[in-house]
Amino acid sequence: HITVVGSLNIDWIARVPKLPKPGQTIASTSLIQRFGGKGANQAIAASRQGAQISMIGCIGDDPSGIAYLNHLGNHHIHHEAILTLSKKFTGSAMIAVDDSAENQIIVNAGANAHLKPQHLRQHETLIAQSRALLLQWEVPQPAIVESLRLAEKHRVPVIMNPSPWHDQFPWGKHPIHTLVVNQHEAAALFGPKTLKQISSLQKALATHRINRLIITRGANSTLGITPEAHIEMPAFPVDPLDTVGAGDTFAGTYATCFAQRLDFPICLQHANTAAALATLKPGAQEAIPTHAQVTKALSQ
Ligand code: ADP
Repeated sequence: HITVVGSLNIDWIARVPKLPKPGQTIASTSLIQRFGGKGANQAIAASRQGAQISMIGCIGDDPSGIAYLNHLGNHHIHHEAILTLSKKFTGSAMIAVDDSAENQIIVNAGANAHLKPQHLRQHETLIAQSRALLLQWEVPQPAIVESLRLAEKHRVPVIMNPSPWHDQFPWGKHPIHTLVVNQHEAAALFGPKTLKQISSLQKALATHRINRLIITRGANSTLGITPEAHIEMPAFPVDPLDTVGAGDTFAGTYATCFAQRLDFPICLQHANTAAALATLKPGAQEAIPTHAQVTKALSQ
């Protein structure tokens, strides 16, 4: 199985004719609730591709938290290692979208901000027994670094998606099997000059203790780079409707293919196809395709 350490958020999406000005009160025309958070999005993506998933994270003792555990259960994701914190809110994003598709978003990390290294240590056995550990950066850095330490101790390969990006990470302290970055993250990590030369990137992988680097480039081809080789996987052709969640679908799908020990190019092809299909529907988790949908798209 794969263990995902990461965030769980509830998105509250209000449609408004026009975004409110400071001090103004306006009525929304609709309100919907969606399950989100990069951790849970990637867990669901990996699960839809057929992997057994356990998630480690934190929710609050509010109705949203209870609803989230039910939701994960409905998706066959093991949630015994998700800690419910008393007197905390589950992570939330309050999103207003107006008629011209402009938005305003307020994120409250809530319980996600309280994921501690100690909680990871309590689930050391779960991590040790995993075929892969999947990480993003929407939980506190000490928890991420502890996850990496435990994975190294038990020789569990780590797939990491450093999003949302910041530049305080201790690169090279612990090995990372596969780093999945978009173009902005790649430029921030390696510098725009290094990015232009595959051989410079390959050298950088050694200093960062990364085995494989994947650079996603939206509608352009995806790059897969190892110290010895590189692959360019063409984008799966689609006419995108909403790219929200495409990156999470990519990372989750890649993790499942990797855990199934598929060859690197096949992993890239499946992840690319699943992410492209995810752009055809609105929303994040609702848009993630199943394994059957990905194989069908690939056979057409
Ligand atoms: P992020 O959304 O995290 O910034 P990207 O924009 O690179 O990441 O998109 C992630 C992946 O989603 C891409 O590698 C690709 O597989 C898929 N994708 C996104 N936009 C498109 C598109 N217009 N056509 C085909 N695939 C897309």
